[in-house]
Formats: sequence, structure tokens, C-alpha cells
Amino acid sequence: MIRPMHSSAPSPAPLVDSFQRQITYLRLSVTDRCDLRCTYCMPERMQFLPKADVLSLEELHRLALGFIARGVRKIRLTGGEPLVRRDMIDLVRALGRELGNGLDELTLTTNGTLLAAHAVALFDAGVRRVNVSLDTRDPELFEQLARRNRLADVLVGIAAAREAGLRVKLNTVALRGRNEAEIPDLVARAHEQGMEMTLIEVMPLGQTDEDRIDHYLPLTEVREQLETRWTLADIAHRSGGPARYVDIAETGGRLGFITPLTGNFCDGCNRVRVTATGQLYACLGGAEQVDLRAALRSAAPERALDEALDMAMRIKPERHHFRVDTRGAAPAQARHMSVTGG
Ligand code: SAM
Ligand code: SF4
Repeated sequence: MIRPMHSSAPSPAPLVDSFQRQITYLRLSVTDRCDLRCTYCMPERMQFLPKADVLSLEELHRLALGFIARGVRKIRLTGGEPLVRRDMIDLVRALGRELGNGLDELTLTTNGTLLAAHAVALFDAGVRRVNVSLDTRDPELFEQLARRNRLADVLVGIAAAREAGLRVKLNTVALRGRNEAEIPDLVARAHEQGMEMTLIEVMPLGQTDEDRIDHYLPLTEVREQLETRWTLADIAHRSGGPARYVDIAETGGRLGFITPLTGNFCDGCNRVRVTATGQLYACLGGAEQVDLRAALRSAAPERALDEALDMAMRIKPERHHFRVDTRGAAPAQARHMSVTGG
């Protein structure tokens, strides 16, 4: 149970990095654990962090309030799978109370397996949009990709979220030789149901059981393939993230492209990520980090947190340095996406 606590009014010291980018978006991982084992994300025998190292609910709450006080207006809860953390909804409720009080949006990224059970509570707490990851609608391929037979739960979860009034955006990692041929159908189905969809290039983050290069599919190629079927028009729409969008005339829907490898998106970066153990990573693709847990557990936590956030602004790099993996090479970052918070 979290005691009600409010962020102070946004301080006159917003979070601005050395490249004059203001940080208004926090991606906060609430756990590195997950009920799936997507092959591009983690190995089957993933070594999870010791539970004692993970921030308590109260610490996550205080941390988020510290960010809001410094001008963060959007928080995305993620993981691992955020909904596997049992007290997750308490955190959502506590942060939901900050909406309209410095915070503009509270959202989450989920694999959808547990969404049916939580959709109404999320909506009631003030969540209005969720991102659900869906790489395929084929049950066999889903089981091959996620190493778990849970597609039906995900589809029920998506339906329940929509029923509860949540807007659902689907995220799909484009994978050569896996969902490559299915992508146009996934887009068509999403748009038929009035959902936006975003395609993502697979990134070299953390060791998995397979070489990702075998399934890396540049989105430039996917776009060319889609253009043989539909009319894609670039639009200026931005969702505060790295995605670039097109409208598709024939489906009447919107499609996003996140291209860390074929296109750099760092210019307008407005975010930082915090792991479930309170490590702030200034960039998904970099090693620059600040220990916020130590700050939270220090004798003067508020001041220490502010100082740690100032430090994060000084070390945030101008851009990431992802490149396409070469076969057999170590990943660009040893950290898994599930640790940093996808
Ligand atoms: N478990 C939740 C989910 O799957 O939506 C949230 C965390 S997951 C790490 C967030 C997003 O990262 C998912 O859309 C997933 O597909 C994506 N992802 C994981 N590993 C990735 C990688 N190596 N490259 C690109 N995207 C990745
Ligand atoms: Fe879990 Fe999300 Fe990683 Fe899949 S992508 S293993 S659902 S954290």
C-alpha cells in the first residue's frame, strides 16, 4: 500500500541535457521478470535480478515523483513484463493521482498476457493508452517466437483493454524469415480494428540464444514491400517518441517505423530509462548510467536524487551508436532490453 504523497510543483530546474534537449519522458521498468521468453529479447534460461535488488513500490513511487517535480510529464511503466509484478496496480493507482498535477500521461508497454485481468483497473487509475507487443497472430509462430503458447491470452487481453476504454497501439518487431511475410496482414488487421501499429527494427541488446543478425530485417525493406501494395504518405505526426509515421490511404490507418539501425532518431530525444533496480540509463544504446537507488537510500534522498538527475543530464550522450551486428559479434550492449526497460 502506498501512502498518498504528491510531487511538489515542477521546480524551476527542468531536466535539460548538454545538447539542450529537455527530458520530459521517463520509461520506468518495474521488473526485469517476464512470463514470455521472446527469442530476440532474452535466452530461455534468463538470469533475473535478485528480488532484493529491485526497488520497492514506495521507492518506485518516490522516484517517479522526483522526476515529475523536475518536469517529466509522461511516464511509461515497462519491464520485463510490468503486469507480472503483483503490486503493479498499486503503483499505477498512486501515479494516476499525479495526472493533471504535473503528469500528463501515464501509460505502459505490455506483452498483453495478463491484460484481461487488469484492463479495467488500469483505466480506472487514469491510464488511457497502452502499447501491446504483438509480433504474429499465428499461434505456432507465436509459440516459436515467445517460447510460450500464450497468443490466445494476448488477443483476449487486447480485446479486454479496448472494451475497458483503453486505446491500444500494437508494437511489432520485424523479423526476417519469421513474421516478415505476415507484416502486411498484421498492419491490415490492426487498421481494420482501428488500432495504430508501429514496426521496430531488432536491436543488438543483450545475449540471447540465437544470432539476431539472422533475423534482422531493415524497415527500409519492409516499407518498400508495403508500397507495392498500398499508398504510404509520410506525415508530421509525432507521439513524443522516435517513431516516424505514415498514413496508409487504402487501410485508413497510421503506421509507425522505429529505425534505430537504418535511421538515427536521437536529435529530439526527450527520455531517460530507469531499471527496476534504480539504475538510470541516459541512452538505450549507451552505457552511461547513474545509480538512483543509492540516492533514494541515502540520508538526504530528495537532494541526492536531484543531484543524481543533474549528473544524468551531464552524461547523456548526443546519440546512440547502434550498428547492424556482424555474425557472431557480441551485442552492442550487454544489457537486455528487458533490463533497461523497453
Ligand atoms: N514485456 C513487455 C512487452 O513485450 O511489451 C515490455 C518490455 S519489452 C522489453 C518492450 C518492447 O521491446 C517490446 O515491444 C519488445 O518487442 C521490444 N524488444 C525487446 N527486445 C528487443 C530487441 N532486442 N530489439 C528491438 N526490440 C526489442
Ligand atoms: Fe518479455 Fe517483452 Fe522481452 Fe518478450 S519482449 S521476453 S514479453 S520482456
